[in-house]
Amino acid sequence: MQFIDLKAQYRALKSEIDANIQSVLDAAQFIGGPYVTELEAELAAFVGRKHCVTCANGTDALQLAFMAAGVGEGDAVFCPDMTFISSTEPAKMFGAASVFCDITADTYCLSPESLERQIQAVLAEGKRTPKAVVAVDILGNPCGYDALTPICEKYGLTLIEDAAQSFGAVYHGKRACAFGDVATTSFFPAKPLGCYGDGGAIFTDSDETAALFRSLCVHGKGPGGKYDNIRVGLNSRLDNLQAAILLPKLKALKDYEIDRRQTVAERYNAAFAGKLVTPFVAEGCVSAWAQYALLARDTAQRDKIIACLADKGIPHMVYYPTPQHALPVFREEPRYQETFHNADDYCARTFSLPMHPYLEEAEQRQVIDAVLEAL
Ligand SMILES: *Cc1c(COP(=O)(O)O)cnc(C)c1O
Repeated sequence: MQFIDLKAQYRALKSEIDANIQSVLDAAQFIGGPYVTELEAELAAFVGRKHCVTCANGTDALQLAFMAAGVGEGDAVFCPDMTFISSTEPAKMFGAASVFCDITADTYCLSPESLERQIQAVLAEGKRTPKAVVAVDILGNPCGYDALTPICEKYGLTLIEDAAQSFGAVYHGKRACAFGDVATTSFFPAKPLGCYGDGGAIFTDSDETAALFRSLCVHGKGPGGKYDNIRVGLNSRLDNLQAAILLPKLKALKDYEIDRRQTVAERYNAAFAGKLVTPFVAEGCVSAWAQYALLARDTAQRDKIIACLADKGIPHMVYYPTPQHALPVFREEPRYQETFHNADDYCARTFSLPMHPYLEEAEQRQVIDAVLEAL
């Protein structure tokens, strides 16, 4: 059994993926090319945004978003305490402080109340400039944008949606990647939409920001082309080969993968209701189920369940064992007296089970039985 079964997905899509790869080889068009152009148009249309600019990975997408927002020395970038390090790592590289905020107890996403307290604490201290907020759709579950967007508007902050885990999710009728001034995603193989290597994308409705991204991705190129460099940028592009692989995968995601993930999640929810804390998806939302995470009663119970799963050879993971504020790299970041009770509690009790669109009912039964037996 696989935690995320990329081989099963490849078997299902083999003929289209192989044909696309072959056509890239035949055309010998590797950097940029027709598949990249087609993919960007398809991605933008699917998520309902005006522009999509692909790049080399999800971390670069965030770095490009910080560059476009002008994040630098003396700035504060706010993000949830429970996420993957990429959410603010690039901002830290530009000399900004990562100001962590607690998560909500139910969605595990950025808490609007904690965010506003942290913004006010930064303002009260008067040493840093609040600049940007990274809202992470954690585990595939969209953030509460109805509350977060007005806070960013009130304080004049750039809102970045980190949708690395939520491609395909829905929040009140709009797809993930449709929120914030800029949204970013990742095509790392294990993400809901993954390629066969690294890849990422940035989404925006602003013509100006999209043009800036196109320049920043190619060494700050100007109107005169790639040898007319007008700013410092990156070399961050998605290969034609990866775009060729992503196109049939995007079609499968739209046609049936999102639905199948819901079916898998519903079976888990039914099996574990009342026994463990099952995931909460808010009214009017659809999770992309990048992960199916449960909360045990406490760390001891979580570790016991994990040990039982390991004994039976059932794959499992902990996303994430350590909240950001406790990572060695971030220990010196300013905390402003905020406590991270929900993030600490989540990290101490969470574990994740196999979740992907090709998980057979019989395989899932084995997982469920093993967890119930451990309990
Ligand atoms: C995976 C991930 C990223 C980074 O994506 P890469 O393509 O691996 O660089 C950023 N944010 C979150 C929340 C992620 O899960």
